[in-house]
Amino acid sequence: MNDDVALHAHLIGRQGARADLNTPVLVLDIDALDRNIAAMADRAARAGVALRPHAKTHKSVDIARRQIAAGASGVCCAKIGEAEVMADAGIAGVLITSPVAASAAIARLAALAGRAKRLAVVMDHADVAMRTDAALAAAGCTIDVLIDVDPGMKRTGVVSPEAAVALAHTIATLPNLTLRGVQFYCGTEQHIEDYAARRAAIADRTAYLQTVLAALANAGFVPELVTGGGTGSHRIDMDLGVFTEIQAGSYIFMDQQYLACALTDRGDTPFETALGVDARVVSANRTGRVTIDAGYKSLSTDGGVAIVRGGASAKAQFAFMGDEHGALIGDERAMPLAPGDLVTLTVPHCDPTVNLYDHYHLLSGDTLVDIWPVSARGRAR
Ligand code: PLP
Ligand code: MN
Repeated sequence: MNDDVALHAHLIGRQGARADLNTPVLVLDIDALDRNIAAMADRAARAGVALRPHAKTHKSVDIARRQIAAGASGVCCAKIGEAEVMADAGIAGVLITSPVAASAAIARLAALAGRAKRLAVVMDHADVAMRTDAALAAAGCTIDVLIDVDPGMKRTGVVSPEAAVALAHTIATLPNLTLRGVQFYCGTEQHIEDYAARRAAIADRTAYLQTVLAALANAGFVPELVTGGGTGSHRIDMDLGVFTEIQAGSYIFMDQQYLACALTDRGDTPFETALGVDARVVSANRTGRVTIDAGYKSLSTDGGVAIVRGGASAKAQFAFMGDEHGALIGDERAMPLAPGDLVTLTVPHCDPTVNLYDHYHLLSGDTLVDIWPVSARGRAR
């Protein structure tokens, strides 16, 4: 039994202290998490759109349940493995937002459709639609389908209004697929840091989406569901009023990347940083630098380096020192750190960082109040 799980056993009936946790450890402020969940639910309710938060961010059944309790219509999942974990835990309304194309994955999708409540999947190719229909026929079940429309990101999706209509016609001929609508995810535009520039880019892409929706309507397909958007674009998407459902994910944690993006035209953000990594100084024998126990295996590397949060060392710069270690580098006065001292880091990019941990350690202030598994950790297929 790992020490944190042993500690968890002791927690039944009493609470523990953050300072007692072994490090590096993924920490989540439960109060900030709940405020973020409530804030986005409130925004969606006031805008009259559904919210289906992306679970690729948290991979946690516990967090999905809290989002649904706050009014979410289900959760999005990136891959079949993630969807299996969520649906098998009883989460209804799972939407898989990436095409499922491998035969082994399609077979699992068909099996999951037989036991999940309101499972849906996106598609962008007629061959995949036909292979999925055949697998569903063999399993004796059906699935809801959304046409994935590429906004120009060149990742997934059909690449023209004509291609969307052609795929809609194919899906209509397949008895085990029910066409429900379209997905449109502007992953590039929603990370533009300047709000006005982001708004202009999203408005331009949404005008293109409307040409796709018009072409589908002309061909007799009126989508009941238009889903997409993320934390960076949710406000703009709600204003533009074309989406019926928003897929935001990162708002629950607010990583360094999103803290750099103003989320309203006033430059403020309605969400708080809830996620962090607590690490400890393991060596402090040089002037102006110490070594901590968090390296490549504790922080994703795609979003820059972690930021040291609070305390005397807040001005120190993080630098990776290999798989298991990082350095905090600063001037002498800013580095009064000794072996065993705790530092909290704000993660640059939440999703790939979470996937490095087995558990969330839930904090209320500096009190450990619970431990939740990262339920779909590693479920990339
Ligand atoms: N929808 C899709 C298809 C995504 O890939 C993502 C994230 O990458 C999201 C929604 C959620 O976006 P965010 O985490 O920026 O809120
Ligand atoms: Mn992300």
